[in-house]
Amino acid sequence: MSEENRKLWQELGINMEMHDQLIAALPGMFAGAFGKLKNRPEGMKYFNMVVGDIHGIRVHELAGKKKAGSKVVATFCVYVPEDLTWSAGAEQIGLCGGAHFTVPAGEEHLPANLCPLIKSSLGFKVARVCPYTQISDLIVGETTCDGKKKMFEILGTMQPTYTIVLPPAKDKASRDLFVQKLKEYKDKLESLTGKKVTVEILTEKSRILEEKKKAMRRIENVRKNDPAPISGLDALLVNQVSFYDDPVRFAQMTNQLADELEQRVKKGDGVYPKGTPRLLVSGTPQAIPFWKIPEIVEKTGGVVVAEESCVGTRYTSTKAGQTGQDLDKLLAGIADRLLETHCACFTPNSERADDIVRLFKEYKANGVILSNLQFCGPYTVESKLIENRLRKEKIPFLRLDVDYSAEDAGQLKTRVQAFLEMLKYSGRKNERD
Ligand code: SF4
Ligand code: SF4
Repeated sequence: MSEENRKLWQELGINMEMHDQLIAALPGMFAGAFGKLKNRPEGMKYFNMVVGDIHGIRVHELAGKKKAGSKVVATFCVYVPEDLTWSAGAEQIGLCGGAHFTVPAGEEHLPANLCPLIKSSLGFKVARVCPYTQISDLIVGETTCDGKKKMFEILGTMQPTYTIVLPPAKDKASRDLFVQKLKEYKDKLESLTGKKVTVEILTEKSRILEEKKKAMRRIENVRKNDPAPISGLDALLVNQVSFYDDPVRFAQMTNQLADELEQRVKKGDGVYPKGTPRLLVSGTPQAIPFWKIPEIVEKTGGVVVAEESCVGTRYTSTKAGQTGQDLDKLLAGIADRLLETHCACFTPNSERADDIVRLFKEYKANGVILSNLQFCGPYTVESKLIENRLRKEKIPFLRLDVDYSAEDAGQLKTRVQAFLEMLKYSGRKNERD
């Protein structure tokens, strides 16, 4: 651990003792999930390096940008448009907490029966173990689920926080409200950075965002092949890194990885044998370092081929690259783009079930894992509707309510194993029939 890192963390007010414990635990967690993967693509070396130095290189980079006059905005939801943030001369990083380590600190301020993502996210601030939180000039929350929006009120007592009010629906009146709220967010950013958002800059930043998403879609596309050229674990890691890496460099490195994977597909080279049961994982986001689901699936004889999640297709499928004659039109285009993100926080949200069925077919999946974080109201309640639809479509599914702690791992493994056996048996039966 370099002296420069320690110096920077101290300057940022990090609780060094606790942070040392966190940093010491990460290599073991990473090795536990990724250590036994075989035939990993060469292009994953970059993403390994980024995660291996998760609180180093990128934090220094952000500190350098701040010295040069930039600001850092931290967010917790894909509904906060990064192209708009970048246009005002700020960096944007995603802060969603995926670590059990900070849940106890979060629980000092939040009820225990709340989703671990919310508790972990607040816990990073309370425990002062996240340099990305500490370096942020502004935290931008949103009113998606009740737990999160109330958590932002608490976070606001600890660090400057701004909340974008999101409509709970996607109809015309809601869309108009959202356009208005994006205008207010633009004004907030301009007062933070002292820079004006212009049509030219926003068009260019939106183009950069679309380049990043295109690179991510290339990775998704190769995963439609059997054998899968990349594991679900590695693909998830790429998606997780996308939330805090520099967007231009990320697109470049992701395109390099995609080139390699496309070659693998041509040669029929895969990470698991052809015919390995293929699973679509759908549900709540899997924030870094939450790798439990693909880790269990892939250690149990399956492969995850897609994620219907905000760390997955819900983020990549919304097309950026908005254009328009004036800022109002551009912001309306961004609102329309974001309202295509079919989060369970919206009502009605029937498009999500359509997406799951479509993805199941496109990725030639054999089954769906509906994976929701424990105590997540929107996704666990919506699950009932999704389950009904999957039954109607005769799509096999397994519902898992998961926690960040390791305690449920054994039970989850048994259930995934049984599900995979059932898929294998019905596959053999279909071949015979
Ligand atoms: S699941 Fe909903 S609240 Fe969470 S990041 Fe996605 S859109 Fe935002
Ligand atoms: S997982 Fe559910 S409860 Fe947790 S932040 Fe996301 S929508 Fe809210």
